[in-house]
Amino acid sequence: MMTKVYNFSAGPAVLPAPVIKQVQAELPSYHGSGMSILEMSHRSSLYEDLAAQAEANLRDLMAIPDNYDVLFLQGGGTLQFTMAPLNLARHYHRLGIVDSGHWADRAKEEADLLPGIEADVVALSKDEHYTALPTDYHLTGDYDYIHLTLNNTIEGTMYRQLPHLPGQVLVGDMSSNILAQRYQVKDFGMIYAGAQKNIGPAGLTVVIVNHDLLDENQNLPAMLDYVKQAKKHSALNTPPVFAIYVAGLVFKWVQDQGGVDALQKRNEEKAKLLYDYLDNSDLFKATAKPADRSITNVPFVTGNEKLDQEFVQKATAAGLLNVKGHRSVGGMRASLYNAMPKAGVEALVEFMKQFEMAH
Ligand SMILES: *Cc1c(COP(=O)(O)O)cnc(C)c1O
Repeated sequence: MMTKVYNFSAGPAVLPAPVIKQVQAELPSYHGSGMSILEMSHRSSLYEDLAAQAEANLRDLMAIPDNYDVLFLQGGGTLQFTMAPLNLARHYHRLGIVDSGHWADRAKEEADLLPGIEADVVALSKDEHYTALPTDYHLTGDYDYIHLTLNNTIEGTMYRQLPHLPGQVLVGDMSSNILAQRYQVKDFGMIYAGAQKNIGPAGLTVVIVNHDLLDENQNLPAMLDYVKQAKKHSALNTPPVFAIYVAGLVFKWVQDQGGVDALQKRNEEKAKLLYDYLDNSDLFKATAKPADRSITNVPFVTGNEKLDQEFVQKATAAGLLNVKGHRSVGGMRASLYNAMPKAGVEALVEFMKQFEMAH
């Protein structure tokens, strides 16, 4: 008998329990085929149907306009730090980076490695150790796009409203809050997200790109070319069939929960539970500035490294898993993605109260 655990990992992260159950039930024989999805050809009609259905459900959930391609790629969020500039920085060969945290910084590093491409920091909050979103923008010249990290997974800040940048194309890294917070796809030239935080297993990256921004004849190496990938419905080579299958089940689950708006409301309630406790605690404190606080990733500290370690250890023993903070921030971090039930946050807060009383 396993005791109940809650997984607060930042990624790969908790998946909805009914999805895991369905995967288990369907694993030996997918839709009466006698074959497991793990063995199934990506050229079979069963696969083509499930990929098309997953795309249709994602389009419905995010209200993706028809002129946007939806791609199911590999290489993680990180490969998009390279693919986005290759595909989209073709006029000015220049992009602006809003340096709001570690992942934004990585996006700049990777873009800087591309010959002939310039990545300028147009706003940054490094001086505040990324505990708040940048506020001052300095745009000097023409940019193909501005790269924005919608949710800073490590530092625990997120955009509730997009910065006002008239005339600029926005490229949004939504790896850690896609489907958790409502954004309008039409406000972006492109959106991408590694699946393993809020969508499904690792190995899949979702890309949503405005087709009008692409050049039919851009002719990049095939795997790196959004146009070629779109033409082949993301099956230019063998796609991550299992990850797409699970993502499709999660999209269906999100629909069953009432969609993105309903989940956002639930996420706000879950986050409020934890932040309210943190703001009233004499022991723990949230590290991100209140106005910019993320609803999906909540970093917090005691201010004493030894005590932080003890907390992580005891929480783990109590079945509250993966609450250790990222090494760059230290302390703790609780990730409260869509699939984290409210009961998990209640259990965490209850445990923190007891820990505080004992110290
Ligand atoms: C996790 C993460 C990444 C990197 O994702 P990989 O899929 O591991 O490459 C990029 N951006 C953000 C915001 C993330 O949270």
